[in-house]
Order: sequence, then structure tokens, then C-alpha cells
Amino acid sequence: MNDFDLDDEMDVSGPSEDDSFDTEKIREATRNILLAVGEDPEREGLRRTPTRVANMYGELLAGYTTDPDSIINGALFHVKYDEMVLVRDIEFYSMCEHHMLPFIGRAHVAYIPNGTVVGLSKIPRIVDMFARRLQVQERMTRQIADFIRDLLDPQGVAVVVEGLHLCMMMRGVKKHNARMTTSAMHGAFRANLATRQEFLDNISRGASALQI
Ligand code: ZN
Repeated sequence: MNDFDLDDEMDVSGPSEDDSFDTEKIREATRNILLAVGEDPEREGLRRTPTRVANMYGELLAGYTTDPDSIINGALFHVKYDEMVLVRDIEFYSMCEHHMLPFIGRAHVAYIPNGTVVGLSKIPRIVDMFARRLQVQERMTRQIADFIRDLLDPQGVAVVVEGLHLCMMMRGVKKHNARMTTSAMHGAFRANLATRQEFLDNISRGASALQI
């Protein structure tokens, strides 16, 4: 799966030092899972697995401790521009909260400014902040849209997320159900059919099928 258009620098800061994130508990839990499935946590290949898993969750779930202000970091600009701003094909990696398995895919984010714009590279970081949590795709989509609405007070904001859910793909459910599209719209995108259609046309143009 490597046909994403936008290969942005999505550096991920781990959980902050305040430690709402309990590494030791995850290590212990992982060890218990290994025992529960009949494995030997002391064998060579597994000895460091609890530590690896704890570190991995620190990275995959870093969104809980990401500070929104530090993401935006003053990158708000006042401009007289009132056309649609669109960032499409933002790669994301999230974890379904029902099974703690990944769902991955692309987000498309658009807004129509009302005097304020945000630096373009910040949009993928906003997506990342909400993706790196235990999520359901519907809520993630809504959170991204709400965050941008609250940040910019734009004339409208629209978010479409396409996700592939490993919990569906790996668990013997029919695979065509594994791909899911969700959307959240505010303001002009909700009220104005032409605006919504322009956005949808834009994200479907030249879209390559989401694939793994
Ligand atoms: Zn799931």
C-alpha cells in the first residue's frame, strides 16, 4: 500500500513525560497475553516483546498526549481568500477501538476560509493527532472536522475518510466490507449542494483505488 499522493513528514512524538501512559502496565499485560495463548514469554524471540509492544503503543497511540497548540504552533494566517482549500490523500494509521487492530487509509480535508487559514502542512498533523488513538472511523472523521471548525471558524469544512479495517479483513468477515467511507460536513458544505459537489468531484478526480 504505497500509492498515496501525499507523503508528508508525519513525525510522531511519543507520550509526554506526564505519564498518563503506563508503559509498565502494557508490558505486564502483553506478558499475560503471551502466557494466555500458551506461549513461553522467556523464549528468545519473545523476551523483549512486551517492551516492544509497550513502545509501539506509545507511538501508535501518541494522539492522546499530543498538544493541539504545539501542532498548530502559531501557523494561523489572516488572508483575504475565500475559495476552497483542499488537502487530499492524507495517509493515516489508526487503531479500531473494538479490536485494537489497525485501520488505515486516506483522509481528504477541505475548508472555505473566513479570513483565517492554517499552514497547509498542519492539516496532516491534525489528522494524525486524531488517528493515533483507539478510534472508530466515524468519530475520527467528526473530530477532525470539528477541530478545524473550532480552530478557523471557516465558512465551511468537509472531511472524507476512506479506511481499510484489518479487523474485518483478518477475521473471516467478507472482505468487501472491509473498506469504509465516512464524511463530516459543516457550514457551506452542508448547506450548499454545489460546494459539496465541487469537493466530492475534486477528491474523486484521479483517485486511485485504495489498496493494500
Ligand atoms: Zn474492529
